[in-house]
Amino acid sequence: MVEVHVSAPVGVVSQVTGERWIPVIGLEVHCQLKTWTKLFCGCRNEFGAPPNSRTCPVCTAQPGALPVLNREALELALRAALALEAVVARQSKFDRKNYFYCDLPKGYQISQFDQPYCQGGGITLASGKRVRLTRIHLEEDAGKAIHDRGATTLVDLNRAGVPLIESVTEADLQSSQEAYEYLTALKQILQYVGASDCDMEKGSLRCDVNISVHKPGEPWRTKVELKNLNSFRNVEAAIEYEIRRQVEAYESGDPSQRVVQETRLFDAAQGVTRSMRRKEDAHDYRYFPEPDLPPITISEAVLERARSSLPELPAARRTRYAATFGLSAYDVGVLTADRAVSEFFEIVARLSNRPKEAANWIANEVLRHMGDATLGIHSIDELPFRPHDLALLIGLVEAGTISGQAGRTVVRAMFETGKGPKELVQSLGLEQINDVAALEQWCREALVGKDKIIADVKAGKVKAAGALVGPVMKASKGSANPQVVQEILLRLIAEMP
Ligand SMILES: [Zn+2]
Repeated sequence: MVEVHVSAPVGVVSQVTGERWIPVIGLEVHCQLKTWTKLFCGCRNEFGAPPNSRTCPVCTAQPGALPVLNREALELALRAALALEAVVARQSKFDRKNYFYCDLPKGYQISQFDQPYCQGGGITLASGKRVRLTRIHLEEDAGKAIHDRGATTLVDLNRAGVPLIESVTEADLQSSQEAYEYLTALKQILQYVGASDCDMEKGSLRCDVNISVHKPGEPWRTKVELKNLNSFRNVEAAIEYEIRRQVEAYESGDPSQRVVQETRLFDAAQGVTRSMRRKEDAHDYRYFPEPDLPPITISEAVLERARSSLPELPAARRTRYAATFGLSAYDVGVLTADRAVSEFFEIVARLSNRPKEAANWIANEVLRHMGDATLGIHSIDELPFRPHDLALLIGLVEAGTISGQAGRTVVRAMFETGKGPKELVQSLGLEQINDVAALEQWCREALVGKDKIIADVKAGKVKAAGALVGPVMKASKGSANPQVVQEILLRLIAEMP
């Protein structure tokens, strides 16, 4: 890996004093593993089931119930660790993290304290900057407390015992943009390896931020923890607010604004962070080894199986797309953001034998319609047509059977009806009209009253004729071949006295 040093000055400049402050940011990200069952029992790991319907004596902490480690969870956790270039510990153990809350019936969470299942690793950002991981550990999720009925709190234990990996970075990040980029890359990697959905809306990815600021060359100041960040945009906004708040507090010297070690919640509506509680130290949790679970031992065979199950990772895929298909950095980024999209693209590219056109049609049309809420298709797996259909459509456009504009109409219709492109071209009457008599008629109509353009073309400004192609295309309802129209226009003008 080539180390690139970012030369631009880092940090923010105070508008009051003109002094530079450097943010120091670390992220703690919890991701739910996409297993069939929970971490220590056979209950389904499933979002959205009726409250408390996915529970058993183990995950509701009945006396005498004993946990058993889910092998699938360990396998997914290993895949995540390897994809994040971490070093897997051959032996690790579980610990009890003790605290009381109504969504935690055992009174402790089974987590990993001093011997996590892996250490190190990291993600390299586009700038070349390396964001190092301190560790990743495996733990169980707590249930969910729902405070929505005034004085009443409801508890749903479906989430209790769902497997989580918590990845903790070193304080290597220095801006909200870097945090955003890191999270995007982390999410991509975990989705690629099938470890997690990383769906923040469903809570399967949750991010806490540790943040402080300092002046260049001076020690780091007090660290504050930010919670309640339920989108990457909110992470960005909370970091930006907090940097401003801390710099202002230090510069004002006002004791009432003093920065203290605490946990703050982000209020997305107001765009501010608010103090929630003083931060606990590790010793507050009275960690001790979990007596009901044996240590985790990972053999070379298990590790090798996890290694061989890894797919091509996003960074490698981006490099290959740029090198093999000659795609722009932008297209490569768009196409590899989601593994399913990139796989769809590769099939279309192969079937149509036109990777660049496949990239354009997917990036510009297919993804655009997927962003259209009225169509209700949000992921590539929900498309009502196959890669084969898109490849066929590309072939029709490239052969000149239909125009590019008609092609876009067909893609929209494919989304709406799920019908194949050939059938749609026919039923929508989009086959390109190469009938010269009809085209000539539309061209003559388009030329009426356009003396300025005619004069310009006659004077050698051939491009001026382009303004008349649009009206002819419109008259033909998009089915004329624009190149042929252009040729006819130029011929008609040349023939004029
Ligand atoms: Zn259970």
